[in-house]
Amino acid sequence: MIDPIEQSIQVRNQVSKNDKRKYYRFRKTRFYGGCATADCLGCNLRCAYCWGQKKVWNPNKYGEFYTSREVSQKLINMKLPLVRLSGGEPTIYKTHLLSLISLIPEETLFILETNGILLDEDFAKELSQFKNLYVRVSLKGVDELTFEKITGAEGKYFNHQINALKLLKQYNIKSRAALLPDFFTDEQIKKLGVSNLEYEQLITYPFVIKNLEKKGIKIVRK
Ligand code: SF4
Repeated sequence: MIDPIEQSIQVRNQVSKNDKRKYYRFRKTRFYGGCATADCLGCNLRCAYCWGQKKVWNPNKYGEFYTSREVSQKLINMKLPLVRLSGGEPTIYKTHLLSLISLIPEETLFILETNGILLDEDFAKELSQFKNLYVRVSLKGVDELTFEKITGAEGKYFNHQINALKLLKQYNIKSRAALLPDFFTDEQIKKLGVSNLEYEQLITYPFVIKNLEKKGIKIVRK
């Protein structure tokens, strides 16, 4: 069982160097109607369905270090109305993240995709200064038990995800929760009690299916 807080510290050491953070890809994507996307390396969870795991979980083997200014320039140069930070877990290196958001022009919406585990009150306060920020919190379960099974992390950290959503609301940061619904019944999702959920899509690579089978996680929706 992993402790995502300890995991974050270990991973931060691998993916950060001064202001630099490791990324493995910069691309134009069709998401949200077209956005410039930077994919970072390193994560504090081990989700059974993680399609990017080969790279994201092995930051020593892949990617290159970039300063926040270099990343912002790459994103701005794509000349799209939205920018997005995705891939691994962007909050693992807070200093770099805050610096990066500050370098994106205010008229460009900055979409931060996160699992929210590290998003405590201080972090939320710091994020609240950015009016062009939109945070998408990807929930990894509908309760502690399902979170634990999916992520390999202690179930209690599911509450960090829920708390992150509350803090984002409290600090008036535009946000939305997302969930991969394939493993849950309507009843379970309803019980979760999170409104305006965005549904993510399961990418059924053979290794993903194998991982799910190994962990006994069943797809309950077709
Ligand atoms: S939080 Fe995202 S990047 Fe991290 S293991 Fe889960 S799916 Fe992969």
